[in-house]
Amino acid sequence: MLIVDGMPDRPIGGRTPLSVAKKPNLDKIAEMGINGIMDTISPGIRPGSDTSHLALLGFDPYKFYMGRGPIEAAGVGIDLKPGDIAFRANFATVVGSGSVFDKVVVDRRAGRIEQTEELINALNEIDLPVKFEVAKATGHRAVVVFRGNSSAELTETDPKVVGEKVKKCKPLADSAKEIAEIINEFTQKAHEVLEKHSLNLEREKRGLPKANAILLRGAGVMKEIPSFRDRFGLNLAVVSATALIKGVGRIVGGDAFTPQGATGNKRTNLEAKLGNSLDLLKKYDVVLLHIKAPDEIGHDRDFEGKVEFIERLDSHLGRILDLDFSKNCVIVTSDHSTPVSVGEHTADPVVVSILHEGVRVDDVKRFTEFDAPKGGLCRIKGMDLLNIALDLLNLSKKFGA
Ligand code: ZN
Ligand code: ZN
Repeated sequence: MLIVDGMPDRPIGGRTPLSVAKKPNLDKIAEMGINGIMDTISPGIRPGSDTSHLALLGFDPYKFYMGRGPIEAAGVGIDLKPGDIAFRANFATVVGSGSVFDKVVVDRRAGRIEQTEELINALNEIDLPVKFEVAKATGHRAVVVFRGNSSAELTETDPKVVGEKVKKCKPLADSAKEIAEIINEFTQKAHEVLEKHSLNLEREKRGLPKANAILLRGAGVMKEIPSFRDRFGLNLAVVSATALIKGVGRIVGGDAFTPQGATGNKRTNLEAKLGNSLDLLKKYDVVLLHIKAPDEIGHDRDFEGKVEFIERLDSHLGRILDLDFSKNCVIVTSDHSTPVSVGEHTADPVVVSILHEGVRVDDVKRFTEFDAPKGGLCRIKGMDLLNIALDLLNLSKKFGA
């Protein structure tokens, strides 16, 4: 499965990046395959990348999505158990006197600090009434997991804007009272530890903002979720540079890989990602290759940038066409549209092409938003995608007698 994040678009003057890009390999895939459009979640529902990837892997996001915190935590390698509460976290700079909750956030990224390993080690030494774990994410970001509690009905400590005080975590349900207190204790103790940490004293001397507070947001509680293997009898590998997508793969019991040079932006090493994915096909039944850049470019509203990236991606896709399609099934699609005219995810259905020896090849010859709806797949839902592929491969079970 090649999932090109946010690639489809809304037309501007009748043109989309996919319709003007020179992309002979994607067009060849459309010509050789069966084509259609897909609502990754449901018509009119604007998908997040996490909820849509869950659906594309056959998991109903309305049943299994547990919020961004647990997925990011799984994405950076924390092994979550049902009941664990996970937050996304930022190192930030606070000033003032009194407790951390009296202090004002002056930099939500602590000068975009990168080297946070030592600070995280120090945070993991804090004494709390529950087990917890802090782990590094990209740049100034981290994740914090509190073990063995049952409610994430909590407010965030991140005020989300500078010039405001660190917020107290408040319970939104009785079952969250205890953990809310523990989170406030953690936030205060973390501030004390960070404030006097040698790395921060050093930063202060050099005139850099101290990373002296940790702000929490995106709480979620890990749910019981069946594994991909239990559901489909197949093993799964996810190749991505994005913690959120690796997290989705890991949450359903798959393995996640980031090849060298994969960055999640437009300079990513496509050669390495394709190569790694094709290698993994020798060991794994299902390989999901996630390419992030078109979504970022869509958020930046850069039409030409999207065209350029699609053309560069296409130049690497010839290797997919060399696969043996009597044994393999290739799906090329996206998790949602990120139109440059909107700069956000929209519910416009995505383009989907499926390649396999047994598909009913249709008349579609170009991989675009305008051609795909004329294909034989018509309009499908994200949750159906894997079933369609498994059926083509004769790996699905009969329903009924
Ligand atoms: Zn996405
Ligand atoms: Zn996005």
